[in-house]
Amino acid sequence: MGHTQDRSASVAAVVPPDPDDSRLDAAWARIRGRLREEVGETEYRTWLRQLTLAAVEGEEAVVHVPTRFLRDWLRGQYGDRLRALWMAENLGVRRVDIRVAPGRDAPGAARDAEEEAEPALAEPIAAPRPVEGRADAKADAAKGDWAAPLDPRFTFDTFVVGKPNEFAHACARRVAEKPASPGFNPLFLYGGVGLGKTHLMHAIAWAIREGTDGRPGRTVAYMSAEKFMYRFIAALRSQSTMEFKESLRSVDVLMIDDLQFLIGKDNTQEEFFHTFNALVDQGKQIVVSSDKPPSDLAGLEDRLRTRLGCGMVADIHATTYELRISILQAKANSAQVDVPIRVLEFLAHKITSNVRELEGALNRLIAHANLFGRPVTLESCQEVLHDILRAHDRRVTIEEIQKKVSEHYNIRLTDMSSARRARNVARPRQVAMYLAKQLTSRSLPEIGRKFGNRDHTTVMHAVSRIAELMQADAGFAEDVELLRRMLET
Ligand code: ADP
Ligand code: MG
Repeated sequence: MGHTQDRSASVAAVVPPDPDDSRLDAAWARIRGRLREEVGETEYRTWLRQLTLAAVEGEEAVVHVPTRFLRDWLRGQYGDRLRALWMAENLGVRRVDIRVAPGRDAPGAARDAEEEAEPALAEPIAAPRPVEGRADAKADAAKGDWAAPLDPRFTFDTFVVGKPNEFAHACARRVAEKPASPGFNPLFLYGGVGLGKTHLMHAIAWAIREGTDGRPGRTVAYMSAEKFMYRFIAALRSQSTMEFKESLRSVDVLMIDDLQFLIGKDNTQEEFFHTFNALVDQGKQIVVSSDKPPSDLAGLEDRLRTRLGCGMVADIHATTYELRISILQAKANSAQVDVPIRVLEFLAHKITSNVRELEGALNRLIAHANLFGRPVTLESCQEVLHDILRAHDRRVTIEEIQKKVSEHYNIRLTDMSSARRARNVARPRQVAMYLAKQLTSRSLPEIGRKFGNRDHTTVMHAVSRIAELMQADAGFAEDVELLRRMLET
């Protein structure tokens, strides 16, 4: 690695350690350490641990991974980050090439099946987490030891309950306490990406394994639908379908995550259907998750769809602002990092898509604060997260500005366009006008019209008045700044 000079044969026997090597090794160790910190232990173990530094050739670092699957995944997910970390090492590396290690791509039944069965990993979030232990499907199937490991962070303790998920959470608790009770079998959880389906499933699995229902030692098999499919295909190839079926049917609880991936995979669906029936007949619990309710899973066999819908179907709704705040607070607490409430509010306002992104943003802030030993502030937050925040940018409207400002100052929305001139109303109205000027491309007359048909000179006056006040009063300026950040396009 990193041998840039040619060494003549005569000195080959006593080659001193190449100083470049140790520098590169140290850099690589640091980069891995960073990644580990940034992504967390589980993610690291699952995806990144298998990366090895093969060489640094000029401006390019070459890193090796064992499979094509992993290569594609890492390129998509961590390519940019790896490059940035290498560049930060100041060793002249400007590109990172992730390659399959030569000689590692030998055709094994399991790996083949996986590689063929996994063409579409465009939706990385749904990809199976674990990579470990997939090498020998036959041996695994025979042992019955093929379920995916559970994420230690995904327990009921760490799941924050709010309006959007309270029903799904209650159902999950119920199943964990009393598996296979009538009416709750199967439990079908559905909801958009990153809203906590996998978290709830793991939480159920942990609880049942630990025997919180007073019956420890039960076997729980959790896996993604994709993994189920790979296993099945691998078993077909290695002619071990019997072992596969038996091991599946011997579990007490079967959990299949992201069932939508079985759509169009007829053989696998068929196998799942039979397994499903066999388990339910034996009084075993099934838990399934999907991004849609059973009725919307077009392309799923009718009889399977019917069976899936006949237990408990619980949806997880999009997060609310309140839930986002609670989740952020819980995560900041458990990381033991002091994140000002303003920053949490700002994040909860800006990142509304899902919990995964919210968590990702917070983790990055925390990692950054730890790395540089600086406190988290609104400024550092904007700096560190500017790319994430930009992706969440949207065009702000005057109506949104009016709404946010009146909420903030606790006045009625109608006062934005009313004729009232009391200061407690007029000032917020001026702030809203100021922000409308700053954040939208509307002209002064247009803005005036939206504020109860006021004249453009009134808007002009409001803008300069607020600018003046901000100059004079730091507290007020901060207030307006916060509003601006919350609204910012
Ligand atoms: P899904 O499976 O629905 O795509 P996940 O269960 O993987 O989503 O959740 C994404 C991330 O968000 C996980 O890290 C999870 O712990 C976190 N998360 C989601 N909902 C909650 C919640 N209510 N409380 C705490 N963390 C949550
Ligand atoms: Mg999931």
